[in-house]
This record gives sequence, structure tokens and C-alpha cells, in this order.
Amino acid sequence: MNQGEAALVRVGQGWDLHRLIAGGPLRIGGIDIAHDRASQGHSDGDVVLHVLTDAILGALGAGDIGQHFPDDDPRWRGADSAVFLREALYLCRERGFAVGCVDVTVMLERPKIGPHRKAMVAHLAELLEVPSDRVSVKAKTSEGLGAIGAGEAVAAMAVVGLVLSR
Ligand code: MG
Repeated sequence: MNQGEAALVRVGQGWDLHRLIAGGPLRIGGIDIAHDRASQGHSDGDVVLHVLTDAILGALGAGDIGQHFPDDDPRWRGADSAVFLREALYLCRERGFAVGCVDVTVMLERPKIGPHRKAMVAHLAELLEVPSDRVSVKAKTSEGLGAIGAGEAVAAMAVVGLVLSR
């Protein structure tokens, strides 16, 4: 182990998919991307913040985003998904853990994530309170296949590593 590197103690993963509907912009990873479709959801539909929230909750063994923020609760209608992520981070700190690193893959046919990747990584690093070299965002298309390939859906998956915070 490198000096200064904390041992990885917990791992969690998250997966989510949202329908894309007419409108825009498309919010992914806290960034509003100009597009003719938007992510449908009870909240702001930010699939990346949802998978990160689920991955952190998973690493903690603390249930899932739907248990903490039911989609039939009017409080979360149109909510900024950063609220969900901050609650997961609060639980994380409360239990003596901190985020070590996150790796996110976005599955989206268009628009391209590449031009927005740097802004997304910087924004996620700020939300997660980690240096940006602990945050990875990757993107894949679906080769024109299925709902994602038809531009009808956006999906994402994330893996989160937690370290001891004390
Ligand atoms: Mg979701």
C-alpha cells in the first residue's frame, strides 16, 4: 500500500435506467446538457446521481434510494438529486467511512458525453468531497440496439469504494 493511501474497506454498486422524453435539457451527473430529450423521473431524473447514491447505500448495507426517497413522496417531486447523494454521504460519514473512489459508466446513444466529461467529473468530485482524480466517468453507446440505442432511455452504473474516515 502506498503511503498516504487508505485501505479500501467497502464496495457498493448501483444501476439505474430512465426513460427519455421530449424536452430538455438532459441532466446527467449534475450537468444540464443541451438536448431535445430529458430524463423522466419523479425527481430531476439524474441517473448518475441516482447510481452513486445507490452504490454508497449499497456499500453501507443501508438499503436503496427508493427506500430512503420513495417516488410516491411529493417532497421529492422535481427534487435536485444532489439531495439524495448528500444524504447517502451523511450516512457514510456517520458510520465512519468516506468515499475513496467512484467509477461511473453512462449508457446513452446521444448526445456525446465526452465534451461534458471534465465538467461532470469536477462537479461530482465537489459533491463527493474528493479530489477529481478519485472520480471516473466513462460513456458507452448501445450500438443502436434496444431502448438505449433508440434514444428512448439513458442508463448508468457505478462502483464506489469506501475507506475508513477515522
Ligand atoms: Mg433513478
